Amino acid sequence: MLTRLFHHPIFAEHLTGPGHPERPDRIRAVMAVLEDEAFHLLDRAEAPEGSLESIYRCHPEEFVRRLATAIPEEGMVRVDSDTILSPKSFSAALHGVGAATAAVDTVVAKEAENAFVAARPPGHHAERATAMGFCLFNNAAIAARHAQAVHGLERVAIIDWDVHHGNGTQDIFWSDPSVLYCSTHQMPLYPGTGAKDEVGKGNIVNAPLAAGDGGGAFREAFRSRILPALDDFSPDLVIISAGFDAHYRDPLANLKFIDKDFDWATAELMEVADRHADGRLISLLEGGYDLEGLASSTAAHVKRLMTG
Ligand SMILES: [Zn+2]
Repeated sequence: MLTRLFHHPIFAEHLTGPGHPERPDRIRAVMAVLEDEAFHLLDRAEAPEGSLESIYRCHPEEFVRRLATAIPEEGMVRVDSDTILSPKSFSAALHGVGAATAAVDTVVAKEAENAFVAARPPGHHAERATAMGFCLFNNAAIAARHAQAVHGLERVAIIDWDVHHGNGTQDIFWSDPSVLYCSTHQMPLYPGTGAKDEVGKGNIVNAPLAAGDGGGAFREAFRSRILPALDDFSPDLVIISAGFDAHYRDPLANLKFIDKDFDWATAELMEVADRHADGRLISLLEGGYDLEGLASSTAAHVKRLMTG
């Protein structure tokens, strides 16, 4: 399997201030572990800058303009209590969008079997017109719309195993049955959405987990609800919102996943992509705030993408 890794040095230049969990060291830890000899076959690509046109498919122009004009010339400003803008934040977010859309182009053109985007800031909390929860633009949603608008793919599935519910992705596709959104997440927890009865047009599958749950509950949610929903939906493209904050070491939440759980779920989703989507699968980094847990679980995930 050829896996393409998208990255750009600007992802470490989005600054969030001392003590902020969504910090540049996260991406450094991810890139450091992917430097290991075990990953020498990764096909490394520089993330291009994304287009405004691709962003406008998910976020109103006025919202994008407001974010751009809020960028400080120096120092930092707050969008909300935990979402921060620094001078390079807009450019970092644009390259995150560019990486996500280029990852779609790559797997559609069969230049690689699958792709992993190592970017920050993350995206799944960004709603249509609200940046929140460390997120500016919703990269997974933009990638899904790009696949439909540019490549003519009809059905896109987004599977989100970040420990937080992807309220932004759910918001964007709430009344759009051409996109299936499936999420496992700890509940109750930020942002408060993600109950089982939030179903959109039948295209939203929320599988909340309880504090203390581990890989057993995660796998059961996949087996009983998410994998059957994916087979019913038969996606043309599989997108993973790959957060690693359900790892047992993570300080922001209380699930107990181990590296092997992410490896298992990756393999299951690759099989879904093989069954329905001619193998097309991309994965986008979301959260993960313990550097060691983030690095080791990302390594397990990418290793599985590379080996099938
Ligand atoms: Zn998260």
